[in-house]
Amino acid sequence: MVDMPNTPRVSLLVTDLDNTLWDWFEAWHSSFSAMLRRLSQLSEVPQRQLEREIQMVHRRRGTSEYSYLLNELPSLLRRNPHSQPLKVYDDAIHVLNRERLRSTKLYSGVLATLRELRRRKIPVVAYTESVAYWSEWRIRRTGLDGLIKVMYSSPDHDFPLGVSAHDLRTQPPDTYGLKVTTHKRVPPGILKPNTDVLKSILADFSVPPKGAVYVGDSLMKDVAMAQELGVYDVYAQYGASQDREGYDLLRRVSHWTQQDIERERELSAQPTITPSYVLSEGFSQLLSMFDFAEA
Ligand SMILES: [Mg+2]
Repeated sequence: MVDMPNTPRVSLLVTDLDNTLWDWFEAWHSSFSAMLRRLSQLSEVPQRQLEREIQMVHRRRGTSEYSYLLNELPSLLRRNPHSQPLKVYDDAIHVLNRERLRSTKLYSGVLATLRELRRRKIPVVAYTESVAYWSEWRIRRTGLDGLIKVMYSSPDHDFPLGVSAHDLRTQPPDTYGLKVTTHKRVPPGILKPNTDVLKSILADFSVPPKGAVYVGDSLMKDVAMAQELGVYDVYAQYGASQDREGYDLLRRVSHWTQQDIERERELSAQPTITPSYVLSEGFSQLLSMFDFAEA
């Protein structure tokens, strides 16, 4: 065993998913902007008008990944009083799905790092605020089913009256769900940096705060939460997207409140949260920052 002075010994990794393990923003932006362009062409509703209506639906549904979005946009409903916009503008949804499939990928080094942690018998727990359905889809798509022991996600969004999650499914049943990773839902309304979920993860694995590492790309949510509990906090700086081209589109259409957006802007301009560890290059830097050893 190589002695690593100043390298904390830890036995549990808790990680955020979006923009920490994969580039969610890139996948979202490339697929959503392509869908929006196509939808605007097909419907002849200006993009800005669609954006305003989309933001209202997303806020009402509390997510920016809402499967029935098109069916609830007033401009589209007015133009199609006797048919469902989702059917009429089916081609825009194809564009969205195709682009999402193409652009959902792990950051380099993630797979190798998670495999190394599995070799060392270190449990990896994921904690995301994205909804259950899309979190499972991304875990399957990126091949992480099983490399993550437990995933905590938000529950799925509400469905329109008379529609169930089952009705959304168009593929055979075994193409859904996770085979190995256990999937748990966070109670609705619990959002990072609330520490309840992280606290219960530590309790489940009987690990004290200084026996665990938490990594994420949001200073305001991930780093603040880990610091409050005294878990080793790691900032996935490579995942920060706030200054990237297209982030304004996300601000314009997402379910975030104006207050969230302002706070994130302020923090990005003048960080008041200083992370203890920073991954400037990539996820695999974790392996040299900490001594991951079985408890
Ligand atoms: Mg994230």
